[in-house]
Amino acid sequence: RSQALIGLLLLYIFTVSGLIYAKLNYERHYFRELSQRDPMTSLLNRRGLELAYKSVFPQDFEGVAIFDIDDFKKINDTYGHDVGDEVICYVGQTLHRNTRAADIVSRFGGEEFVVYMQGNDERKMIDAVLRVQQEVSKGSTDIVSSGFSVSGGFVVKPVTEKSDLDDLLKQADEKLYIAKQSGKNRIIV
Ligand code: GH3
Ligand code: MG
Ligand code: MG
Repeated sequence: RSQALIGLLLLYIFTVSGLIYAKLNYERHYFRELSQRDPMTSLLNRRGLELAYKSVFPQDFEGVAIFDIDDFKKINDTYGHDVGDEVICYVGQTLHRNTRAADIVSRFGGEEFVVYMQGNDERKMIDAVLRVQQEVSKGSTDIVSSGFSVSGGFVVKPVTEKSDLDDLLKQADEKLYIAKQSGKNRIIV
């Protein structure tokens, strides 16, 4: 009789600790997700990109593209901040839809996006970035009647040793700067 009670008590203790463990594990996962994603676009944020980059498997080539919406301040001023947010979400979705599952797409800052990609064919990677830039413009008039574009900088290089993400970002950013200086709505590779 008392043995049965002890058995029941033990079963109870095991069940409760199992549930507590599962809950803590779930929360840990939940908060980790939360700290790595941008809630507005559901894309990875800068922190998420940095963490994802650490676990990529090296291929022949790697590339970092930075996209920045052209004259975004004007969109905000003309149509309001909410439409500005829609524009940001649209750009995020377009980047996500037009890249491969293995590519890492992130919202890097306010109206800036970074895509990290790996591949075996440098030319195809460049074409992918150029195509995405075109896609954004194509659908943009569905969001605001005047439409809009993005500019970008893309650095692509053979993978020799593990590169430094900050270094690649800096190089891509310099190209983005040239794209903006030379008239916007373009990608500099
Ligand atoms: P450029 O073509 O040189 O990139 O010009 P720009 O107007 O796009 O760039 P600028 O850096 O002058 O303006 C960026 C603006 O983006 C300023 C800021 O108010 C706006 N912004 C940043 N984050 C958000 C956001 O989450 N939502 C909205 N609606 N606006 C944002
Ligand atoms: Mg910007
Ligand atoms: Mg901009």
